Amino acid sequence: MQIAFRPHHFLCALCFQGKGYSPQFIANFTAIMAYLNTPLGENTPITVTANTDSICSPCPHNQQGLCETEASIAVLDNAHKEALNLQIGDEITWKEAKNLIAKQITLPTFHRICATCSWKKLGLCENVLRDL
Ligand code: SF4
Repeated sequence: MQIAFRPHHFLCALCFQGKGYSPQFIANFTAIMAYLNTPLGENTPITVTANTDSICSPCPHNQQGLCETEASIAVLDNAHKEALNLQIGDEITWKEAKNLIAKQITLPTFHRICATCSWKKLGLCENVLRDL
């Protein structure tokens, strides 16, 4: 399976709990995580991309490769890219990404880099990070 994530989706993937923008979006995200959380998937390189990615593909807000709210998503991407020290075009396995998140994303960092995300207020992501 070939997988690409825009920068903020590494943390979203770690925090994913079956919620999302549509049944198709949730089904696709669930399938990606089911694969990544296998021994083979955990060692599969994920390409860091600046555009819509494997998670975005069936999203109702995906407008032919650009997010409907691209400007605000770019703010999230830049903050996560910097916090995780990732560059567009990098390849990183899910196992490496999880280790990187555990090392780099403290709770204060999470609150800073995810500040503009509309899902943050649900508290789901914060709970996952508290349990790391
Ligand atoms: S708060 Fe938003 S951007 Fe941050 S991990 Fe959760 S869903 Fe992703």
